[in-house]
Amino acid sequence: MNSSYITHLECTYCGEKYSCDELHTVCIKCGKVLYPRYDLEKAKETLTKSNIQSRNRFDIWRLHEIMPVKKDENRLTLGEGWTPTIKLSNLGAQFGLENLYIKDEGQNPTATFKSRGLCAAVAKNLELGAKEFVIPTAGNAGAALAAYTAHAGVNSHIFAPADTDAFIQAEMKAMGAELTLVEGLITDAGAQAKKVGKANGWFDVSTLKEPYRVEGKKTMGLELAETFKWELPDVIVYPTGGGTGIVGMWKAFNELEEMGLIGNDRPKMVAVQPSGCQPIIRAFENGDKHATPWECAESIFGGIRVPAAIGDYLILQAIRGSKGTAIAVSDEEIKDAMFLLAKKEGIMIAGEAAATVATALKLSENGFIDKSDKIILFGTGSGLTTPSLWN
Ligand SMILES: *Cc1c(COP(=O)(O)O)cnc(C)c1O
Ligand SMILES: [Zn+2]
Repeated sequence: MNSSYITHLECTYCGEKYSCDELHTVCIKCGKVLYPRYDLEKAKETLTKSNIQSRNRFDIWRLHEIMPVKKDENRLTLGEGWTPTIKLSNLGAQFGLENLYIKDEGQNPTATFKSRGLCAAVAKNLELGAKEFVIPTAGNAGAALAAYTAHAGVNSHIFAPADTDAFIQAEMKAMGAELTLVEGLITDAGAQAKKVGKANGWFDVSTLKEPYRVEGKKTMGLELAETFKWELPDVIVYPTGGGTGIVGMWKAFNELEEMGLIGNDRPKMVAVQPSGCQPIIRAFENGDKHATPWECAESIFGGIRVPAAIGDYLILQAIRGSKGTAIAVSDEEIKDAMFLLAKKEGIMIAGEAAATVATALKLSENGFIDKSDKIILFGTGSGLTTPSLWN
């Protein structure tokens, strides 16, 4: 039995094709994002609704036909994925929304959804011969890389802004990663990671700068479709930094449609950014294809304080293609939302994730969503990753 029907890599911008049997980063021709492509005609022979239902593997490799790793023994796992989708009845009642849900990604191995992407990227790039990894991070991606490289028995090197939460720094070091603090933002950490990584031959797993993290994030979309019995929800609210999750889910929906597992309805994709750093929102509102970098980015929520994203055009395509929208919320609103969700529902989520809660209220008030719409908030991380914010 073939465990993966991956066929090649394809540039999302210029269409150039590459082999999926050797290491690749971004498109050699145009520098944009590469996506893995699959033989979906073949995949759909075994990916039938009844087959899927009978499977008892509950990690990101559940729909392995449309995941990139070829050999079973290379499917690294710490039990990531299959996070619960929880109805928020109390909060929904307060906001006037009848079908408000959260997908609680805080229940992943490193307590954020970054586990999914790094699981896939480490596993596949090791399968292709990578030896050591490097990453720039606001914290959570680094922790996930540290976990999966420790589990695989290889080294990782992490570059993070100096203001990264002390607890996350300790977490990365505890799992054996080499941590370098960089003055400035994630983009500054990215420049350092690139330079030092290149000099040492480390493989760079920056957001969307290699083809496989997005496949791990894609599984969020696959799970949503399965959770809701192949009828996608009406609205997905997603805290957007580099955007891997939003574009990963978009890719998942397109692949599922091509295999006949869902129809052509799509949830409205709503991107949320902090008011102190909203390049995607500005580009969305201006009708631009790309986002210009946000100057003097400011937010205490590092995961969504991302001034520039290589996948900006893909994020904008998903928002526009779904008739979604892009919303800014202030750090104050985010903080209030963190505490509100904890108190009303017993769920402590990361600030980045709480931005979706603040957004749900705004969307309800401005009439963008109907009160009966099925709305999924992406609880991208656990509040326990940043203990200091809760005092
Ligand atoms: C990284 C991160 C985000 C942003 O995710 P992207 O896929 O980069 O847009 C949101 N929330 C949390 C908790 C994160 O760690
Ligand atoms: Zn290209």
